[in-house]
Amino acid sequence: MKCLLCQRPIRIKPSLDWLLSWRAFSRPITCEACWQKFTPIDRRTACAGCGRAQPSPELCRDCQRWPPERRFHSVSLFAYNDAMQAYFQQYKFAGDYRLRRVFAESMQTAVAQQAADCVVVIPVTPATLTTRGFNQVSGWLADGTNPLCGLQTVARTKAVPQSKKTRAQRLLLTQPFALTRPAPRIYQQHVLLVDDIYTTGRTIRHAASLLLENGAKSVTGLTLAR
Ligand SMILES: [Zn+2]
Ligand SMILES: [Zn+2]
Repeated sequence: MKCLLCQRPIRIKPSLDWLLSWRAFSRPITCEACWQKFTPIDRRTACAGCGRAQPSPELCRDCQRWPPERRFHSVSLFAYNDAMQAYFQQYKFAGDYRLRRVFAESMQTAVAQQAADCVVVIPVTPATLTTRGFNQVSGWLADGTNPLCGLQTVARTKAVPQSKKTRAQRLLLTQPFALTRPAPRIYQQHVLLVDDIYTTGRTIRHAASLLLENGAKSVTGLTLAR
């Protein structure tokens, strides 16, 4: 089998334990060399407010200056480095849906660890959905066995993709989301809000406020990269 990222063959040496068990063999998706290029964020020391990678666990300077809403915090799994940028280029912008498998396990494990009552995926615009053909976040969660307690989405009301805007334009945006109809069942629920990349935090904070204003007990943001 070949690495999904570099197409080189992956060699696997099944262990004796595996050979003696009847468990399904989980095949590696990428080769070791490709996987090593991604940098996991150490969640023991990441900022408790925004998930920023840092050496010690106190709130980062941004979160001290602008404290996050009490019932919201965010975690991210990997640093947005060159390898991650190249990954998003292929997966999200070139629309190679097979690449969802590279991070499906990481994301599904993280979702399961959060043990939320309800999982909400940040939506893409209908126009993007038509062009790309899929929501990149739902792609990671798609073939998971996690009991996703109602995969609810909120609908974007602005049409321009976030990545096409400058930072200043992004910051100027007003609430870009609205609840879907019928409204998701979030009342008094701990909601896990999942997105792909945490850039300024604006997107996820907007969506979190909307969920909190509509009765969610608490919201945890989860993004693949930051
Ligand atoms: Zn590879
Ligand atoms: Zn922070």
